Order: sequence, then structure tokens, then C-alpha cells
Amino acid sequence: MTHAPTPVHAGWPAQRAGAVLSVNLDAVAHNYRQVVARAPNAVCAAVVKADAYGLGAAQVAPVLAAAGATQFFVAHVDEGLALRPHVGAQAGITVLHGPRPDAVEACLAHNLRPVLNSLEQIGWVRAVARAQQRRIGVVLQLDTGMSRFGLSTQDVAQIAANPDLLDGLDVQLVMSHLACADERANPANAEQAARLVAYAAQLPVSAPLSLAASSGVFLGPDYHFGLVRPGAALYGVAPHPDEPNPLRPVVGLKAHVLQTRTLSKGDRVGYGLTWQAEGPCRVATIAVGYADGFVRARANGLVWFGGLPLPILGRISMDSMTVDISAIPQGQLEADGMVDLLNDTYGVDDVARAEGTIGYEVLTSLGHRYHRNYTRTA
Ligand SMILES: *Cc1c(COP(=O)(O)O)cnc(C)c1O
Repeated sequence: MTHAPTPVHAGWPAQRAGAVLSVNLDAVAHNYRQVVARAPNAVCAAVVKADAYGLGAAQVAPVLAAAGATQFFVAHVDEGLALRPHVGAQAGITVLHGPRPDAVEACLAHNLRPVLNSLEQIGWVRAVARAQQRRIGVVLQLDTGMSRFGLSTQDVAQIAANPDLLDGLDVQLVMSHLACADERANPANAEQAARLVAYAAQLPVSAPLSLAASSGVFLGPDYHFGLVRPGAALYGVAPHPDEPNPLRPVVGLKAHVLQTRTLSKGDRVGYGLTWQAEGPCRVATIAVGYADGFVRARANGLVWFGGLPLPILGRISMDSMTVDISAIPQGQLEADGMVDLLNDTYGVDDVARAEGTIGYEVLTSLGHRYHRNYTRTA
């Protein structure tokens, strides 16, 4: 005998999840326009790699396009393929890592512009240009000091001596990347800018230059060149951690309280029993854990109830964490209430400080179990 499933009320999705992540799309658009205003003479691209830093490229990229972005950057060919339907056929999509040999044709077939970082990569794409008897639009990256991506000084010299190494390639941009742009006073910034200009001058191409990501934009016009490539700034991360953040917060995170209890002096909390009550207190268990991107070793972490900070007690579990709610008058926060893990005054940079990391990592670690609310305020 078979049983038809009993119909149940499924509840609102936001109630079925442990927490609700809200992404303020107007703030993303505002931040894009803010970067445009800082670099008025450059093309302002939008970096949406890693699923728009974890916020959802499918939702974020169309908003950036509507705000005026026509050039998008991703890291991988696959990310470019996934992005294409969300920005339309006319938008430029540039792949920072460029293609590996077997992905060159997929990359070009979808009109993704590769960044070529090495002579090998140049060779792979040149071979396709020859086979298809056409010129292929590319970006060349130069290593100006970070030793991560891009052509070395020797590579540049080799191309200068053999310009036919670029046969079939239409070099549309020459780029590099700053290693210390978040440190305004670091002399490496100006050195890298000078090297970009000097190395690019040796190449047999005349293309615009690009150096600045988010922090570089806020270093000033000497770093803007022809195109700027902000990512993190669009999502509200402070470009210079020791200066006031000129950008609007983009993400909020509210978690459900699963249960509360009263502890006596000597009671312990969490795996390893690492936290011990020094006196009577009240605690709440909330439905977000390290599987949701809140790192287990987090020290000094806080969550918020209205304006009240609630210290995180002991170790964070996979699906939950325990917080001290003694400061909240009895009865105001009980099971089924909600607390803020991220809000407009305690954002990704604050969580990053508590975790000993950077806002970028907090964003890209945000888990996939949250109910997501994409909001437009205006
Ligand atoms: C990720 C990335 C960016 C964007 O950096 P933000 O600091 O997030 O603005 C720009 N350029 C390159 C090469 C990148 O890898």
C-alpha cells in the first residue's frame, strides 16, 4: 500500500533556513557609481569572479550593467560562460586566468576575452588565431613585482625582439596588478606603476593600460590609466582598512535563535568545553556555524541584537554558535528571535578583524545555506 505524502505547509523559505542573507543591490549600484566618480577618465569594469565574491553574479551583474558597466572580469573560463546570459551578448567578459590549451576554443566561441599571462598562453591562442585565420582580441598581463601572473621582463624583451610572437593577436589592454594597494604609503605602488609604463612601452602594441583594482582606484589618478578593475569595493569592502570606508554596506545577515538557556557559574559551552561561565548568565544558540562561513577559531566575535553586542562563546560548531545574551533584558530575545551577524554598522570588515582575515574572505566564504534576499531600497 502506498501513502500519498501528507500535504504540509512548507513555511516561508526564510523560516526554513537558519539565517537570511540580504544583498542590497542598490548599494552595489551606488558603489559602482562611486568608483566611476573616483576614476572619471578610465573605463570602469566590474570584477564578478567567484560568483560576485559570493553574493551571486546572476543577481549582481545585471545591476552593475544597468549602472553602466560594459566590461566584466572573471577568473575562469567557466565563470565567463555562466556569466554571459546575465550581461547580454554585447558586454565584454575578460577571463583573468586566460584559458588552458584545451579551453581556448570554448573561451573564444563564447566571446570571452582572455588575459594572456605567459608566453605559453600566448602561443596557444596564437595557434588558434592561425588555424581560424583571424585576429583574436586579448589582454596581456605584465608582472610588475608580484610574481604571480603575467609576462616577466625577459618575456617582454623576447616579444620586443620578435614582434611576430603576437601575430594574430589584437592586444586591447595591457594590465598588471598591485600587491600593496591597500597600504597607501607603500613605495611598491609607485614602483609597480612605473614598471607597467616602462614595460608596456617596450611592447610592439599601443593599447590602454590597467593597474588598479578597488584599493588602487582610491590611491588616486596616477593609478587609473585606461581601465580600472574594482571588485571588493562594489560589494562594500573598505579599500583602505585604516581609513573611513567611503562605500555603502551591501550585505546583512540575520540568524534565527534556536534556543536559549540560563547557565550557572562553572557551566561550560561548546566543543572542547573551552568557555566557562564565571557567574550566572544567559546564552542563546543560533543557527549559523562554520559550514556557513564563520570560522571555528574565531576569537572576539560578536553578533548583535539591536545595538547590543553579544559575544560568541566557545567554539563555533558546524551548524550553530552560542552567544551571551545576558545583556538583553529577560523576555526580549527568546527562541525564534533573530540576531544580526552582519549589519550596516558591523560589516564584513568588522567580522574580518575578529577572525584575523580580510573582508574579501568573509564575503567569499558566506555559505550556500542562507535564504537570500536581494533588496532594492530606492
Ligand atoms: C580580483 C581581481 C581584481 C579585483 O580586485 P578587488 O581588490 O576585489 O577590487 C582586479 N584585478 C585582478 C587581476 C584580480 O585578480
